Order: sequence, then C-alpha cells, then structure tokens
Amino acid sequence: MIIVMKAGASEQQLEEVLTRIKELGYMPHIIRGEQRNVIGAIGDEREKTRLQYLEAIPGVERVVPILRPYKLASIEVKDQKVGERSIIQVSPEVSFGGPKIAIIAGPCSVENRESLLKTAREVKAAGGSMLRGGAFKPRTSPYSFQGLEEEGLKLLVEAREETGMPVVTEVVNPEDVDLVAGYCDMLQVGARNIQNFALLKRLGGVSNPILLKRGMMTTIEEFLMSAEYILSAGNPNVILCERGIRTFETATRNTLDISAIPVLKEKTHLPVVVDPSHATGHWQYVKSLSFASIAAGADGLMVEVHERPEVAMCDGPQSLKPSTFRDLMEGLAKFAEAAGREL
Ligand code: PEP
Ligand code: MN
Repeated sequence: MIIVMKAGASEQQLEEVLTRIKELGYMPHIIRGEQRNVIGAIGDEREKTRLQYLEAIPGVERVVPILRPYKLASIEVKDQKVGERSIIQVSPEVSFGGPKIAIIAGPCSVENRESLLKTAREVKAAGGSMLRGGAFKPRTSPYSFQGLEEEGLKLLVEAREETGMPVVTEVVNPEDVDLVAGYCDMLQVGARNIQNFALLKRLGGVSNPILLKRGMMTTIEEFLMSAEYILSAGNPNVILCERGIRTFETATRNTLDISAIPVLKEKTHLPVVVDPSHATGHWQYVKSLSFASIAAGADGLMVEVHERPEVAMCDGPQSLKPSTFRDLMEGLAKFAEAAGREL
C-alpha cells in the first residue's frame, strides 16, 4: 500500500501515520518528495483493508493499493501529477534522472595505470561524465583475466583525482561491498549477479548509488524485483541499466531491448541507463544504438572506451576508440536536444 500525504501535511501528522502503520504490523518507508511525502507500507497484503482506514487521519490525501509485486520501485510512490521521478546524485556535478543526460565511459577492465589514465583523459576531454572500469571481472571462463582487484580500485581513484570524474566499478562478492564502496562513487551489479540476493541485500546497507544491470534472461518484473531488494534494504539510490538480453539472434552479442526504456519509465521512478556496448558486442553498432536509446528516453549511457581496443584484455571488439567516442558525443547532443534533455 502507498499512503500519499497532503502537500501541506505536518511532521506530526506524518509521525501519526508512521506509528499507526507499525501498529498494524507493517514496515513504513518514507519517500520524501518536493511537493509531498509518500509512505510505502510493506507487509502482508491480506491485511490491507485495515490500511485503507489511514485515510481517516488528517494529513493523509489517499491510500493507494499497489498490485504490483514491487512497491518502492513502483512509479506510484511518486507524485504522478507533477511527473516526479528519482534523481540520483553521484557527485555535485553528476546525477541521473534529471534534465541532464549522464555518460559513463571507460575500459571494460582496469588493466594498468598508464592505459586507464590515458583512456580517462580522453573520456573527460570528449565530455564524458563518469569513468567506468572493472577491477573484479566476472568472466565466463575461469581462465580469462579476472581483474586487478584492490589495485584496480586504487587506480580508479587516481583517475578520479586527475580528471574529476566520479568512478563506477562492479562488485561481485557481498564481502567486498565495503571495500569497493570505500573507493568508488557508484557500485555496479553485473548482469550475472542480478539475482544474487545476498549481494543485493548487502548493497542496501551502503549509500553509494547502485548501477543495477539487467540479466540476460531477466524479465522487466524480475529486474524491478531485484531493484526492490536494494531499496527495501535501505538504499534508495538505484539506477537501472538495460544491457541487452538473450534472444535467438546471433549477429549481435545480445539484443538491445529498446522497448525496456519506455516500459520501465512507465512502471518505475528510477533512472534508466543503456549499455549499447554489451548489448551488441560490436563497436560499429554502438553509435546508432546510443542515439536510439536517448531518443527513447534513456537518462544516460554506459559505453566501453579503450585507448587501444586492439590490445584490450577484455571486450576489445565492442570498445570505442577515443576518436569514435568523440564522434559519438558530438552526434548525441542533437538527440539529447530532440528528446528535451541536455548533454
Ligand atoms: C561490464 O559492464 O563490464 C559487464 C561485465 O557487463 P554485464 O554485467 O552487463 O555483462
Ligand atoms: Mn565489458
């Protein structure tokens, strides 16, 4: 159930509602909005008729039943009349979900200091907002490069210090969450870990924004249920990332589900980012799918860029060269403008 407070409701009225929700055996989650506050009451839906009586408390505008299995991720927790959505702040300059489109770019993995810094400088110079780079690499084969681990995190911090761009990296093991959160601004959950519930719950305990990548076999509802794990465990800063799903098609590494963008926008208030690099597996398709994603309403992109893709240790064939990335950024501005956004 969602309890929508009136725009001018007092803190005391809010407290009264929270107390009553707890008395009824539910867990209240407050979502503070610019115009009004909304409370999600989490618990046994069979008792929901009793929650409906909260409408009798002054300060409550209405009580809305939510039929979807996800609640905190649901669009209903925001004021739809004013088109309210979550804006997730990563740093004073970088946010997701506002008018400005954020571009995350960088190598698949952190390979060495020189290469990372070179790529980071190129990303920054082309107008990128954030740097990506994997330090813990969940590879399909146990014999492939597994990442530099903590050494890689330190190099990301060095690149942030030099360029001023916040950094994002994947965390694979729940035990590493605090370590990675201590170094990096944003933590990524990879496609292969979308239903690693121990990891998701652990990420609910940090305040860093989480970039949650859709699994290759994940439905939209399952995707949002995974977001719900993080949100209900206490971290409201979740950004969704569509990165292609498995289909019968083999011409591309995955199939970019472009329709996921408007569908997610309809169902959730969380920002949506698209990763066209993993979606296609080929650098030459990244530009057109980036344009399409922004046109379809994405709040940001995550693109793999490598200073020399031909010698990359991971995902070279889908990585853009710095010059191609610059070209992408130049072309993107027009699409952002057409979509009513800024780059
Ligand atoms: C990545 O972003 O480096 C990555 C491994 O992507 P995915 O989890 O989407 O395969
Ligand atoms: Mn990759």
